[in-house]
Amino acid sequence: MDDLIIAGGTVVGPDGRMRADVVVRDGKVIALGDAGGQQGQRIDATGHLVMPGGVDSHCHIEQLSGAGLMNADTFETATRSALRGGTTTTVSFAAQHPGMRLRDVVADYETRATRGAMGDYAFHVIVSDTSGANLTEDLPALLAAGHRSVKIFTVYDKVRVADEGILDILHTVRQGGGIVCVHAENDGMIRWMMRRLVDAGQVAPRFHAAAHPRLAEVEALSRICHFAEFIGQPVMLFHISCAEGLAVVRGARARGVPVVAETCPHYLFQTVDVLNGPDAAGFLCSPPQRLAADQAALWSGLETGDLAAVTSDHAPYRLDASGKFAHGTDAPFPKLANGQPGLEMRLPLMFDAMVTGGRLGPERFVDLTATAPARIFGLTGKGRIAPGQDADIVLWNPSRRVTLGKTLDGAGYNPWAGRQVTGWPDTVIRRGEVVVADGRVRARPGSGQRVVMAQSAAMAPRPPRHGLTD
Ligand SMILES: [Zn+2]
Repeated sequence: MDDLIIAGGTVVGPDGRMRADVVVRDGKVIALGDAGGQQGQRIDATGHLVMPGGVDSHCHIEQLSGAGLMNADTFETATRSALRGGTTTTVSFAAQHPGMRLRDVVADYETRATRGAMGDYAFHVIVSDTSGANLTEDLPALLAAGHRSVKIFTVYDKVRVADEGILDILHTVRQGGGIVCVHAENDGMIRWMMRRLVDAGQVAPRFHAAAHPRLAEVEALSRICHFAEFIGQPVMLFHISCAEGLAVVRGARARGVPVVAETCPHYLFQTVDVLNGPDAAGFLCSPPQRLAADQAALWSGLETGDLAAVTSDHAPYRLDASGKFAHGTDAPFPKLANGQPGLEMRLPLMFDAMVTGGRLGPERFVDLTATAPARIFGLTGKGRIAPGQDADIVLWNPSRRVTLGKTLDGAGYNPWAGRQVTGWPDTVIRRGEVVVADGRVRARPGSGQRVVMAQSAAMAPRPPRHGLTD
């Protein structure tokens, strides 16, 4: 195949930008610089910012939720949507429910992704059942096979793991090499609030926010940080939503606990007010949106690096009986499916704020949405444009104004519809192949490839505090 030359653009990385042509051969970047005299297929990138394809390290695809509901995307629909929004790599979940063997769960998700995915992918292995051979055989084998991220929940009946089990999981991952991601909210506080709210007849969607108090986040985040310190095992704290949650992360990092954390566009750009409108169900997520002051705190966390990544937490459910309203349109809020779609909108929203709006700038945009997630999860070859890296490249048109509308995912609605952004991913290239041009996605279902996670620096074990020999 001919070399591909992306000519005349400004290439942006996490540490700087330069005018350069990018030369691609066999799916990889082979050179950056002046490729003026070089033969090959040329793409004119004049006036564009040439950025690495997005890495979305937190999205739910073709997954059975903690409440037992299948979400609205297949690997095909989700990754098609992701590509159009400039995201070329996803890390979604292989979700174990109690009674399932971990190795079977991962094999099942791998089979489905192999068939449908258009973008490259990896999995977080959700562990909900630590019995039998799950921790003694399956998890060590999965870690060794490059499934080096484990996800646990401190909430939701079907998947919640109690403290002792969490310690076992942290210890097992420490021995095999990996990172443990956590949805950290206190289950008892949420249940206690839900019971009281429901008893008082306060069941409209807006009471979802009251049922997920800030202190529930603070309690569980603190506990997980102490567990990480106790076992000496790195953790990734998912979807930090509030100033107090960020303060926990900051404090733990300041005392040397191996903790990284992320937030999501809906915490940066939506407040709890979205739950007051008639479309509240479509905005429900956990933790809930908070206040404008929390948004300011989260931006400060992105600035200092205490928040290392911005992910979508894409969790698509249709606004009908197959999804949000499985228990009826008037169901009390505890019975409404949680989550909103976001794979396709994550990068345009962040680009508009960070690059167009000048908040932290293009280099930090690249870092938070591509480079850092690839680095943390050991996604070798992803997240940077440099010789030897996969040629996952997005040509951003910084002046294109777009009113956000219909997306390609399976949710059937876009929570960001009607919002205007400036800056758009005109052309998307995945391993050297143009997969999006003129708004059309041309990738073949099944052309995505699994990315094997390497052991990253963020996964390096620390000395434990329990005093026992490993
Ligand atoms: Zn999630």
